[in-house]
Amino acid sequence: MGKILVFTEAANGKLKRSSIELLTAAKKSGQPFIAAIAGSQAAGAAPALSSSGAAEVHTFEDGKFDQYNPELYTAALSDLITKSGATVVLASASALGKDLFPRIAARLKSAVLSDCTELSFNGDKAVVKRPVYSGKAFAKVTFDQSPIQFVLMRANQLPTEELSGGSAAVTKHAAPAGDLKTLIKDVVKGTSEKLDLTEANIIVSGGRGLKEAANFKMLNDLADVLGATVGASRAVVDAGWVSHGMQVGQTGKTVAPSLYIAVGVSGAIQHLAGMSGSKVIVAINSDPNAPIFQKATYGIVGDAFEIVPKLTEEFKKALHK
Ligand SMILES: Cc1cc2nc3c(=O)[nH]c(=O)nc-3n(C[C@H](O)[C@H](O)[C@H](O)COP(=O)(O)OP(=O)(O)OC[C@H]3O[C@@H](n4cnc5c(N)ncnc54)[C@H](O)[C@@H]3O)c2cc1C
Repeated sequence: MGKILVFTEAANGKLKRSSIELLTAAKKSGQPFIAAIAGSQAAGAAPALSSSGAAEVHTFEDGKFDQYNPELYTAALSDLITKSGATVVLASASALGKDLFPRIAARLKSAVLSDCTELSFNGDKAVVKRPVYSGKAFAKVTFDQSPIQFVLMRANQLPTEELSGGSAAVTKHAAPAGDLKTLIKDVVKGTSEKLDLTEANIIVSGGRGLKEAANFKMLNDLADVLGATVGASRAVVDAGWVSHGMQVGQTGKTVAPSLYIAVGVSGAIQHLAGMSGSKVIVAINSDPNAPIFQKATYGIVGDAFEIVPKLTEEFKKALHK
């Protein structure tokens, strides 16, 4: 039987949904699992991890971990993974996960499967589904000779369960000794209060069909009613209407919400590469032949300026009665 290490992330003192998905999957696998977390959120999230059913909880919460530093995190996590005897490491395919775990895997002479959308276990072997060729096809993959199996899951792909009842001991780790070659002096955070696109459960995305930057207000209004995060196509990012952090696609963010509403987005292959993993796709476009309709679960052919305000009104009535 193998042993799973789940690397978790938290925000505002609470475990992210993507991490609860990983913990649930580890628990369901029937293999023993341990949980780890690093950074300024670690202390706040430790009690939830302790009661999650994990056999052990490891936190890296001394101030040096507050800012993500690839060198420091690689050294600390590699050490924990080696000492813990973990055979599988589960983490989110977040910006941090995708930066950190390939470094650790290289150090531990192991392989990484990133952007996974399904996960199951065949004994102690992880079996995943992941997109290839920019999402045009999916491959079912397992590990062959990797000493440790690193699996990076996209958010919103796995079910979650209430995790409670456990009482694992929490071990605090200090930063490893030694000089770092790099020092993070400052991280400038975006001003948005909304969930990051990669974590969002509902996304309303706008494209060039919105005609000008000011018309994103219409999408913000719809997003506010739905509790959604607003995304965009590259065309409108390049035009300077919205920031690059909002770009969905091959050269932007990869998202996998339960609901993706594309407004005035044509559905170029590079856009689809970032959002075709969404569970339900609603496309609003005035051109019935727009390629986005081939991917859409529901299509609305018409003028976004008529349809979006009506949808906002109707959702307002239905959701906030
Ligand atoms: C290397 C490379 C990387 C790229 N990476 C990305 C990426 O990461 N993300 C990305 O999005 N793109 C990316 N692109 C760009 C991509 O090819 C497209 O150019 C871009 O996605 C088009 O954006 P759009 O759909 O907003 O605009 P358009 O293609 O111009 O589509 C606008 C749509 O709005 C519709 N429309 C117009 N008026 C209305 C109305 N009143 N109501 C409703 N609908 C209306 C039109 O019918 C049309 O379908 C990349 C391109 C390259 C070459």
